[in-house]
Amino acid sequence: MQTNFSLAQLADPDVAESEKILRKCVHCGFCTATCPTYVTLGNELDSPRGRIYLIKDMLENGRPADKQIVTHIDRCLSCLACMTTCPSGVNYMHLVDHARAHIQETYRRPLLDRLTRAMLAFVLPHPARFRTALKLARLGKPFVGLFERIPALKPLGAMLKLAPASIPTASPMACPGVHAGQGKKKGRIAILTGCAQSVLDPAINETTISLLTRLGVEVVVPEGEGCCGALVHHMGREQAALASARQNVDAWTRAIDQGGLDAIIITASGCGTTIKDYGFMLRLDPAYAEKAARVSALAKDITEYLAGLDLPEPVRKPGTVVAYHSACSMQHGQKITRQPKELLAKAGFVVREPREGHLCCGSAGTYNILQSEISAKLRDRKVKNIEATGAQIVATGNIGCITQIASAAKLPVVHTIKLLDWAYGGPKPEGVAEERLIVAE
Ligand code: SF4
Ligand code: SF4
Repeated sequence: MQTNFSLAQLADPDVAESEKILRKCVHCGFCTATCPTYVTLGNELDSPRGRIYLIKDMLENGRPADKQIVTHIDRCLSCLACMTTCPSGVNYMHLVDHARAHIQETYRRPLLDRLTRAMLAFVLPHPARFRTALKLARLGKPFVGLFERIPALKPLGAMLKLAPASIPTASPMACPGVHAGQGKKKGRIAILTGCAQSVLDPAINETTISLLTRLGVEVVVPEGEGCCGALVHHMGREQAALASARQNVDAWTRAIDQGGLDAIIITASGCGTTIKDYGFMLRLDPAYAEKAARVSALAKDITEYLAGLDLPEPVRKPGTVVAYHSACSMQHGQKITRQPKELLAKAGFVVREPREGHLCCGSAGTYNILQSEISAKLRDRKVKNIEATGAQIVATGNIGCITQIASAAKLPVVHTIKLLDWAYGGPKPEGVAEERLIVAE
């Protein structure tokens, strides 16, 4: 694609980066076919190609964002299916991240939208605040119907609807410390405790620590780590995202210096995509660029790490049919497609893949709150495809997808690690009834 940026514009490294990306796009439109919003809404401006044109126009003319571009960029899930499809290697992720930061800087949203976004950015990345908010949400649940009828209050209704009926107690294993591996030491890793997942399902990391230590891996929970920054990053709040990234880079750098790390393990693929991008996000910060690149190189999804270990034979071969839902951040963001399915199969599960596996379930960070109607359509489509597999359980590697799919599916939805842990001697995953564990014909 031809671009017309001035030399003065290109002196801005973010503009220069976006220009490089724009020049790679050859307008072929292959990406439209796999874009969930184009498939759902049928509007070119809600396709990757349409959005790329809108972003190009905004950046080239150096103008503030307007209502039209905000509408279509807000509808983008950042699912990155377009990046998987694009034959020209267009880095849509960095382009849309830049566009979102530009929108945040130059566009004044309506008051309620601003308040909702500010509240999400204030609450979600902080486990203590999120826990309190979920408790308060119980009081608001009876008003969901009312909020859903008032357009400006729809996000509030969506939030209350998603809030779980009960909140698990916080896990002591999330406290900073070291969990020694059993037997011969196979490795040393740090685990991301994160934010929302640690409140909604602390058992995911507990299970991960339990399985890894049984396999001989030492697990460090570093002091000072926190939210990866993805939630605010996707809202265009660049400084807040960079502050989270720096805080985590510092925490993991200390852990590296204190005893070395083979990997930084992430159990939520949405966080993994962002942490693997820290090197790019902090490339212009001389104090952090090198450390951030080192952290990104060490970041691994738990299934990526387990696939590299010499695993023993599972203690039980469940034979249960599992529908594997590959989160967008897993398959498109991190290009991890094989390992989770292979691990499940090796552990004795019968793995089935739902149709249209490339399409997002509509969770996408805060998307199911801020764009609840499109999100619900995508969720229902996903659940229909999952249920058509005839599986007894759904496995996936991202807390956002677990919450989203579980809100509509009749099947239990669990993190992949819980099924693997169970096959390798851990307890049966909570919420999975015995009758779900029947062996496939
Ligand atoms: S990130 Fe997803 S929703 Fe956004 S343009 Fe690409 S495919 Fe479409
Ligand atoms: S597939 Fe790639 S090159 Fe083709 S229009 Fe989409 S982004 Fe541009």
